[in-house]
Amino acid sequence: MTVREALGYAKEELEGAGIFEAAMDAKYLLMEVAGLSSAELFFAAERKLEEGTVQKYRAVIERRRAREPLQYIVGTQEFMGLSFLVSPAVLIPRQDTERLVELALPHCSCARVLDLCTGSGCILLSLAKLSGLKSGVGVDLSKEALLVAKKNAERLLVSVELIESDLFENVQGIFDVIVSNPPYICAGEIGGLMPEVRDFEPRMALDGDVDGLCFYRRIAEGAGLYLRTGGRIFLEIGCTQAKEVSSLLEENGFEEIDVKKDYAGLDRVVCGCYRGE
Ligand code: GLN
Repeated sequence: MTVREALGYAKEELEGAGIFEAAMDAKYLLMEVAGLSSAELFFAAERKLEEGTVQKYRAVIERRRAREPLQYIVGTQEFMGLSFLVSPAVLIPRQDTERLVELALPHCSCARVLDLCTGSGCILLSLAKLSGLKSGVGVDLSKEALLVAKKNAERLLVSVELIESDLFENVQGIFDVIVSNPPYICAGEIGGLMPEVRDFEPRMALDGDVDGLCFYRRIAEGAGLYLRTGGRIFLEIGCTQAKEVSSLLEENGFEEIDVKKDYAGLDRVVCGCYRGE
C-alpha cells in the first residue's frame, strides 16, 4: 500500500464513521505511525509503506473509527504551546481553557497558586512554565490523573506539588491565586455529548451533578480559607453558568467579579478578588 492509498483508505473509513475532519485525522495518524513529517507525506505519496506500518495504521484507524479521540491514540495534546501527555484518565486539554491561563498569568509570577481538579495538570503546569510561580499545588480526586500530571511536570521540568484531594480536603496553606476548570456539565446532558467525549473522556472530569454547579458551590464556599485578602480566583465555566457562578463568588466574600469570553464569544471564565471576611 502506498502513502496515497493508505490516506485514501483511511479518509473513507473515517468519513463513513461520521468523523468531521476525516482527511486531517487520516494524515495526522499516518505521520505518527510512519514517523513522517507532513512534508515527507506530501512528497512521498507514491512510496510503499512497510507491511508493519500498514498494520499499525489499520489498527489506529479502527480506534479512531470507533470515535476514540485522536489525542488518546497519539497520547499527547498541545496546550499553551506546550506538549502534554494525555490518557483516558484525564480530560483532553481544550483551547477554551487557554483563555483561563492567559487571564491568570499576569497574577501568577512569584505567586502561590492552587489548581483544583488539575487533571493532566495543563493549567497549573503552563502557569508554572510560562510565569515562574513561587509555588504551585495541584489537586485531583483521581490517582490516575495525578500520575499523568506528574509525568507532565517531569517532561516540562517544572516543580509543583500534586496531591490526591477532594477539592480543599487535603490542602494546606494560604494562596495568592486559585484556578480551576472543574467538572461542569449537568449530569443529564452528558448522554447528548459527542461520542468522543461521552464514551471516552473520564465522566468524573465532566459531571457537575444535577445542575452542573456542584463544584462551583463547594469551591466558592471553601476558597476564603485558602486565599489571602486580595487574592484572585479564576474559574472556567460552561457558557450558560456565568450568572450563577458570579453570584456564588459574590455571596462568599469576592469582589471585582468579572466574566470573560472565549474566542468563540461565549462566556468562559469568571474571575474575582477575595476581599476577606
Ligand atoms: N483542569 C484540567 C483541564 O482543564 C481538568 C479539568 C477537569 O477534569 N474537569 O483540562
